[in-house]
Amino acid sequence: MGSTADKLVFSFDEGGRDMADLLGGKGAGVAEMTRIGLPVPPGFTITTEACRRFLASGGRVPTGLWDQVEAALLKLERATGKRFGDPANPLLVSVRSGARFSMPGMMDTLLNLGINDEVAEGMARLSGSRRFALDLHRRFIQLYGKIVCGIDGDTFEAVLTAARRAAGVSHEHDLDESALAEVVESFKRIYRSATGQPLPADPRAQLRSAILAVFSSWNNDRARTYRRLERIPDHLGTACNVQMMVFGNLGEGSGTGVLFTRNPIDGSPELFGDYLAGSQGEDVVAGSRATLPLSALRAEAPALYEQLAASARLLERHYADLQDIEFTVERGSLYILQTRSAKRTGEAAVRVAVDLAEEGLIARPVAVSRVEPRQIEQLIHPRVAADVDAEPIGKGVPASPGAASGQAVFDADTAESWAREGRAVILVRIETSPDDVHGMIAARGVVTATGGTASHAALVARGLGRPCIVGATELEVNLSARRLTAGGVTVEEGDEITIDGTNGAVYLGRLPTVEPVPSEHLQTLLRWADELSRLEVWANADYPRDAARARQNGARGIGLCRTEHMFMEADRLPVVRAMIMADTSEARAAELAKLLPIQRGDFAGIFEIMDGLPVVVRLIDPPLHEFLPDHDGLIEELATLRASGGDPARMAEIERVLGRLEELRESNPMLGLRGVRLSILNPEITRMQVRAIMEAACDLAGRGIDVRPKIMIPLVGDLAELRAVRAELEPVAEAVQAEKGIRVPYHFGTMIELPRAALTAGDIARAAEFFSFGTNDLTQTTFGISRDDAERHFIVQYLERGILARNPFETIDPGGVGRLMRIAVEEGRQTRPDLELGICGEHGGDPESIGFCHRLGLDYVSCSPYRVPVARLAAAQAAMGGAAGASTTR
Ligand code: ADP
Ligand code: MG
Ligand code: MG
Repeated sequence: MGSTADKLVFSFDEGGRDMADLLGGKGAGVAEMTRIGLPVPPGFTITTEACRRFLASGGRVPTGLWDQVEAALLKLERATGKRFGDPANPLLVSVRSGARFSMPGMMDTLLNLGINDEVAEGMARLSGSRRFALDLHRRFIQLYGKIVCGIDGDTFEAVLTAARRAAGVSHEHDLDESALAEVVESFKRIYRSATGQPLPADPRAQLRSAILAVFSSWNNDRARTYRRLERIPDHLGTACNVQMMVFGNLGEGSGTGVLFTRNPIDGSPELFGDYLAGSQGEDVVAGSRATLPLSALRAEAPALYEQLAASARLLERHYADLQDIEFTVERGSLYILQTRSAKRTGEAAVRVAVDLAEEGLIARPVAVSRVEPRQIEQLIHPRVAADVDAEPIGKGVPASPGAASGQAVFDADTAESWAREGRAVILVRIETSPDDVHGMIAARGVVTATGGTASHAALVARGLGRPCIVGATELEVNLSARRLTAGGVTVEEGDEITIDGTNGAVYLGRLPTVEPVPSEHLQTLLRWADELSRLEVWANADYPRDAARARQNGARGIGLCRTEHMFMEADRLPVVRAMIMADTSEARAAELAKLLPIQRGDFAGIFEIMDGLPVVVRLIDPPLHEFLPDHDGLIEELATLRASGGDPARMAEIERVLGRLEELRESNPMLGLRGVRLSILNPEITRMQVRAIMEAACDLAGRGIDVRPKIMIPLVGDLAELRAVRAELEPVAEAVQAEKGIRVPYHFGTMIELPRAALTAGDIARAAEFFSFGTNDLTQTTFGISRDDAERHFIVQYLERGILARNPFETIDPGGVGRLMRIAVEEGRQTRPDLELGICGEHGGDPESIGFCHRLGLDYVSCSPYRVPVARLAAAQAAMGGAAGASTTR
């Protein structure tokens, strides 16, 4: 043998866990288990390097490979006392693919290799069971034919089905000797007719073909697709493991099983898994015969159970993680065949991470890094209660998590009007567009028959926090007939349905949903996360109930309290409209005086809940015409009134409103008279707001509540704007404090949501004590696209065609928007070293964007209250330098 670089084959006792690049995950795992003394059938691994050489040379066997395999085989024969191809004492092996990362796309495992007619006779003699030998033989031909020679598996299955039928049994496990013997002969014929050659009887020929088939399977279509999805590099190659067979199909005292060291669904610390006596390979997971839960094995075979439990404990301690273990029992002896970190639900991920840390197996930061932010998402939304026994009528793509029940409606207007009557509705559409957004806001949840996770429906629903299922192709939606059919049932408009946006299921009727209470484990994990974070997590909350939710979820402040929602509510909208319609400043002042106590109440509610924590209140932002009635509706009403000779006073009123609407009309409202511009042109509105904020703050402070208001001016693009507004508003704040005889620490700051604001941040910081990045508008104005139009017309195509890698409204665009943010951070802090910096756009809840904000050095991210737990975890992982969201389970 040449240099070590030319060592292409390693016996299991030569490898270990740190050699996964060379031996693959499976090979490194069996080597490690061998090393720590677990009962692993002996064998050897052919390296990924051998595979790479084979593939790179266009399919030539690497020099020296067969010699090294021979040597390893000889060693294996010595270790086992058996001989490959010797009928007197035959060695049979399995041939198992195994890349660095587990890849379901690659070659299935070949079992019982080395068998032929003479060897089968020998196996029958040795085991005392001819039936067993025949079972091995038929399995081998079936697997070899299918996997190595590409024969359609159905042809073998058809023979088995016929044999079962003839014997009157439901499973091949129950076929007798003579029936099995016939199956073996039929299988040989199938092989010969499909390949034009007899089945290779020479075990070495079998083995070499199998090894090369493993290498070649690296490039089959399934494997390529899987790698693309999981972003696994194409050049890694797979290793190939050759291992002595142990037999779970050697009668009732033998079997195979799978075992999780803890429950992978809820994380509880009990062994979890299944066992199937008299079986081999994948039988136990195939589901065709009833398996025995491990809990039952404990009573049936206590000694075996204890042995399994001890191996499970050992492996879990050794790998310090929840393990997924495959084992086989041969006549009472246990063999471990595989171990790997188990896939798990979000609930289990949290519980296992915390439990392992508390058991001292891992450090707390490791526990925090073990859970993916998106796994927390599964835990924070309502779900269909787990104990509900209902079949979905259809399934789609889960696009926005959470469960909701309501009456099915098929258009946005109906959704809105029914919701106004207090009914819960689910909006069902073929697809959605911005014309449907008002219906999506009104609905408890949204289902579309078409579209993917980047469709309009998905994007908007996620933004609104509404459960959403898209691409539910099983639902036949008939919009004009206002009904859907699926799973043999018809749902008419008004019928109740339930959707679970976490798994994509649509159910008939109203199913009980459960509001998740953050579990003890989750709270513990998030406490540990907070200890690691530098970024604080705040929340966006417009109402006291949102603030309460935010606080309960661990928010350290309110980063955005928008005041326009307060104006929209039914009890004040008439006053707001009268204020906008007012002809004289006296009339306007009178209406504002009516609004003052209402706003004061709004703010007091939130400040009280946020006792001791900051609350950033954004002064009015949208253009005034958004508060007036809809133009087309008014025209219609006027036409009807005219036609029927209706109330002249009402007609005059409508004409007056239409006139005002005409004055306020803008061709580009997004870029029109809004934000700070409104404060400059209509200072009386924001003066009222500041008065309301400060009166509420002073009143509460007088009652001993620690109030920390921060007044935020939106859409500033120039220092002069901010100065002008402060000059109007600061005297109000001072006056209120003087009137009330109490001082409250308050601050003025601005949103950075225009490129010019970012570029002149060094100036703007002279008049701002804090910045909050409004990354939604900043993205719109940086790209020069309106979000509604983009999501309606082109963003999906941009994503599909790869013109945009990510939707910049979901994840901050680092090169453009992010660069502007960086400039604002650096130049703002140069002017004012203690400038407080945060982000209040929806991006504040996106783990990747949170990582970006951490690296920018912001002080906090602010996101919707329900996303606060996700953001707390992401902030901690950002601080640990990990890419938030990176998979830890592979
Ligand atoms: P996968 O990657 O699909 O899990 P494996 O290589 O683990 O494939 O093989 C699947 C199953 O085949 C194992 O769980 C085990 O039951 C069986 N198997 C593999 N090698 C052997 C062996 N040497 N002896 C007995 N059974 C084996
Ligand atoms: Mg498999
Ligand atoms: Mg396996």
